Amino acid sequence: MNNATKNNKFSKLISDWYLVNGRDHLPWRKQITPYRIWISEIMLQQTQVQTVIPFFKRFINKYPNLKSLSIASEDEILALWTGLGFYRRAKNIYKTKEIIKHDYKNIFPKKFEDLIALPGIGKSTAGAIMSLAYQEPYPILDANVKRVISRFENIKKNEKKLWKLSEMLTPKNNIFAYTQGIMDLGATACSVREPECQSCPVVKICNSAFQTSIQAPKKHKKKSIKKINFTLAHSKQSFLLFKKEEKTFWESLWVPFDNENSKKEMIFKKPKKTKIKNINHALSHLNLEITIEIFEYSAPFKIKTNLTHQWITKDDINNYGLPKPIKTIIENYV
Ligand code: SF4
Repeated sequence: MNNATKNNKFSKLISDWYLVNGRDHLPWRKQITPYRIWISEIMLQQTQVQTVIPFFKRFINKYPNLKSLSIASEDEILALWTGLGFYRRAKNIYKTKEIIKHDYKNIFPKKFEDLIALPGIGKSTAGAIMSLAYQEPYPILDANVKRVISRFENIKKNEKKLWKLSEMLTPKNNIFAYTQGIMDLGATACSVREPECQSCPVVKICNSAFQTSIQAPKKHKKKSIKKINFTLAHSKQSFLLFKKEEKTFWESLWVPFDNENSKKEMIFKKPKKTKIKNINHALSHLNLEITIEIFEYSAPFKIKTNLTHQWITKDDINNYGLPKPIKTIIENYV
């Protein structure tokens, strides 16, 4: 079998397999629009499908289309991201919808070159929007596709080579079924640790079929620890929170006063009551050990600082982006 025939066979087998085995129950597979594909693809970057599902549903419930999203603030978008992590993705959604509003009259761009110029949309996300929403034959290369095609040809995961291979395997026709199919195959039969080659549609032409060596688990790097000391001031109904300006994790989210910024004695007067909570939280690259001093006051008060801050009421807290552990402390211990 020559290469062209083998590639055609690969895409045909995957498209046919998708029609029977595709994960059509996923919420972003219903009512396909470029907007819904965009939001789902951004959420799926670095996050598992099962984790994304409730976040996607909540997001679409509040912002079902570009028009509704066009009036959202960055804080409101970040609020829907609480607990999903990698908050830069939410900031990019905000920037992108602003560009679409101002430069494209709120109509989702249709050209690959325009899509790839938008914040947070790389070559693979643009390829997914083109192939799924507009049914144009563009390749994708997310983690699942990388795994399937690198195993198929038994080649190392070299980005340049894999893009070339993905282009060669992407069919001119039936692009929707092929793209969904290859994503689904990578998420199911061709899984990271235990590929189920016996139930794979391309088993007869795959160069890695039934090879046990591909099952070796990845070694995880040991994460470093960061200690954080916060002071959370609150009255019965309000919390004093500060917008995190540093371009590190949790950028633009609202957090309690970080004692690294300046001495808390310069900001806070004597509280009515105090208590301390400790909480550990894992980020992808860091383990956080957080200590929060909780200061209770009878009413909100003014403070002198250049830091962006606000007393946020309990009722309004869901309209602000807060890191998950901070939200947990506020909801459960204050
Ligand atoms: S035959 Fe096995 S290794 Fe090859 S693509 Fe299918 S599941 Fe993956």
